[in-house]
Amino acid sequence: MFDSTVTTTCGYCGVGCRLEAHARNGKVASISPALDGPANEGHTCLKGRFAHQFSRRRDRLTSPLIKENGEFRIATWEEAIHRIQTELGRIKRDHGPDAIAGLASSRATNEDCYAMQRLMRAAIGTNNIDNCSRVCHSPTSFALRKSFGLSGATGSFSDFDHTDATILIGANPTEGHPVVGARIKQATLRGMKLVTIDPRRIELADYGVLHLSPRPGSNAAVMLGIAHVIHRDGLTKPDFIEARTVGYDTLLELLPQYTPEIVEEISGVPAADITKAAHIYGEADNACFSWGLGVTEHKYGSEVVQLICNVALMTGNVGRAGAALLPLRGQNNVQGSSDMGALPDTYTAYRSVGDEGTAKLFEDEWNVKVPREKGYTIPQMFDAAVAGDLKAMYIFGEDVAQTDPNTAHVVAALENLEFMVCQDIFETETTRYADVILPASSFLEKQGTFTNAERRVQLVEPAITPPGGAKTDFEIIKLVSSALGHELPWETPAEAMDEVAKLTPHWSGISHARLGRKGLQWPVAPDGTDAPILYEDHFELPGGKAHFAALPYKAPGDAADEEFPLILVTGRRLQHYNAGTMTRRTGNVELNDRDYIEIHPDDADRLWINDGDVISVRSRQGRTEITAQITDRIERGHVFTTFHFPETRTNLLIGSSSDVNTSCPEYKVIAVDVRPIGEE
Ligand code: SF4
Repeated sequence: MFDSTVTTTCGYCGVGCRLEAHARNGKVASISPALDGPANEGHTCLKGRFAHQFSRRRDRLTSPLIKENGEFRIATWEEAIHRIQTELGRIKRDHGPDAIAGLASSRATNEDCYAMQRLMRAAIGTNNIDNCSRVCHSPTSFALRKSFGLSGATGSFSDFDHTDATILIGANPTEGHPVVGARIKQATLRGMKLVTIDPRRIELADYGVLHLSPRPGSNAAVMLGIAHVIHRDGLTKPDFIEARTVGYDTLLELLPQYTPEIVEEISGVPAADITKAAHIYGEADNACFSWGLGVTEHKYGSEVVQLICNVALMTGNVGRAGAALLPLRGQNNVQGSSDMGALPDTYTAYRSVGDEGTAKLFEDEWNVKVPREKGYTIPQMFDAAVAGDLKAMYIFGEDVAQTDPNTAHVVAALENLEFMVCQDIFETETTRYADVILPASSFLEKQGTFTNAERRVQLVEPAITPPGGAKTDFEIIKLVSSALGHELPWETPAEAMDEVAKLTPHWSGISHARLGRKGLQWPVAPDGTDAPILYEDHFELPGGKAHFAALPYKAPGDAADEEFPLILVTGRRLQHYNAGTMTRRTGNVELNDRDYIEIHPDDADRLWINDGDVISVRSRQGRTEITAQITDRIERGHVFTTFHFPETRTNLLIGSSSDVNTSCPEYKVIAVDVRPIGEE
C-alpha cells in the first residue's frame, strides 16, 4: 500500500516523538507513531500525526528567487549563490565581517545548525550567529547552567511515571506538548499529585490537586514563598544541602521577606495555597518540576528558573529517577540548536567563544582564524540593523517578522539591511524583505538528528525528497559556505556529527550509527554510555556542588494602568505550531482558522464585547484587531492570545522588555487596552 516507510522524529515540538512516515507516489501518505519511541511510546498528537500535508502544498518554494526592481523572479541556483557571494563579499570587504549576521533554526537538524554556525564563524569570520531559542528557552539554558552546570533537563519524561508530585508552572502541555500532557494525565490517574501554576486555568488543572493563578510576572514571588514554607516547616534535606550545594545561607537571609502572606499581596495567590503547594512538593518522596514559556518569557525569566532550581535543591529532588527538572522546550530542536553552538557567545556544549583553548580547538580543525569577541543576540541584531551597523543577514528557517516581538522594529531593521538572504520552505512575512530566497527542505525531506527536551539525540530520516528544485538545508549551507571561500568538508550529515563528536566532550560517544531507534541522551561517553539522569553524584560546577541563587522578586517590565488596564499573555494552541507556517497549510486550519483573544465574561460585559466580535487591542507599542472569545478560563483583568496567524500581527503589541540575562523577550506581560472597534 505504501512505497516506503521510514522511522523518523517529529519536527514540531520538543517532545521528540518517534514517527513512522509512510510515502506513496513521492508524497507522505500517512504518519503513525513508532511503538518503541522512548518519548512517545506509541502515541502522537494532532500535529505529528496529521499535519504533514504542508510538505506537498503547491505554494512550497521550489526554485531560488532573486529580487530585482522590487519584484522576485525565479533564478537558477548558480545565479542565487553568485548573488550571495558577491553581496556578502562586498559587505565584508567594505564594513568587516561583523556587519553580517546569521540565524540558525531550532526547527532544523543539529547538523544544519552546526554547519550554519561554522559558516558564520569560519567563512564570514563573525560570532554574529543566534537561533530562535533566544526568544523562548534561553533563560532555561542560562539558569540550569548557573545552578547545576549543564544546559539541559536533569532527567527524562519517564520521570513523570515514577514521581509522587509535580509542580507544572507556566506551561500548557495539553496544547503545546500534547504527548507529555497525556503522560502527565496518566501519572495523576496513578496517584501523582499535580500542582499547576498558570494565570489561565489550563486543562491539566482539572487533573491536579491544586491550581495557583498568579498575576503575570509574579512567578518569582511564588517560588520564594514556596521556598520560605519549605524552610519554615522543616521540609528541607539538610544532608543533601550540606554535601552537594553552596550558597544556602545567602538564600536563607532572603527568605524571611517572602512569607505566604507577603507573596499573596504580590501574586494574588492565597497564602494557604502557597503553603499547600510547598507541602505537596516538599513532603513527596520524589518530586519533579516542569515549566514552559510562562516561566521564561519574562524580564526575570532566567531568575525564576534559578529559583525553581533552589526549591529542588532544598528538598534534594535532583539526580535520581522521579526527581527531575523538566523544561518543556517549544520547537523540536530548541535544545540541539543551542547545543550545536548556534549562539553568539558559545561553541558546541556552551563553551565560551572567548576561551582561548576552545577557540584554538576549532581553529585547528577548520584551518581558519575565528573571532574571540561575542556576537550579537537576535534583538541586538535588529537594533544594530536599525542603527546602520549591521548590513546583511542570512536567515535560515525563521519568520522573525511574525514571531519576534515589537514587529514594527523588526520590520524597520529588515528594511534597513543592504542585503538579506532567507532560506525557507514557504514565502513568509520575513521573506518579503529578502533579496534572495533559497528553497529549502522540511523535516520530512532531510537526514540528521534532533535533540528533544530530555537531551535525547534522535535520528531524522527523509521520507520523501525536497520538491522541484528545492535542496536540503545541509546542501544549501555547504554551497553558500564554499562560495564564500570555506569548504565544509562533509559529504553527509553523519560526517558533520562525527566532527561535533570529535570536538565536543559531551558528545564524544555520539554517531549516527550508534543512535539506533531510541537515540542517546547526552552526555554520551566515548563507549556510548548515555545519561538519562544527570547529577547522580556530582554537579558540573567547581567542586561538584550546585549553586543556590538568592534572587529577590522584582516587578515585571510592564504593568497595567489607567490607559492600559488589562494584562495580555501570549501563548500557543493545540492545532497550530509557532508562526503557523506549516500547520496553517494542513487540515488543522479547519479546526482553528484565526487567532482569538480570550477575555473573562465580566470584563467582556463591562466593555460591551460579545463573543466573536473583532475588537481593538492596543498596547504601548502598537495596535491590532483580534476576534474575541469569552471564557472563564482566563482570570478577570487578563486576556490571552496567540501569534499563529500573520493577519493578526499580535507581536506588534509586544515591547522591547526582555530577560535581564539572556534578552529573551517578555511576551507574557503586556499592558493593553481592549475595546470594540470604533470606540477607541
Ligand atoms: Fe510531534 Fe510534539 Fe505532537 Fe509528539 S507531542 S507528535 S513531538 S508535536
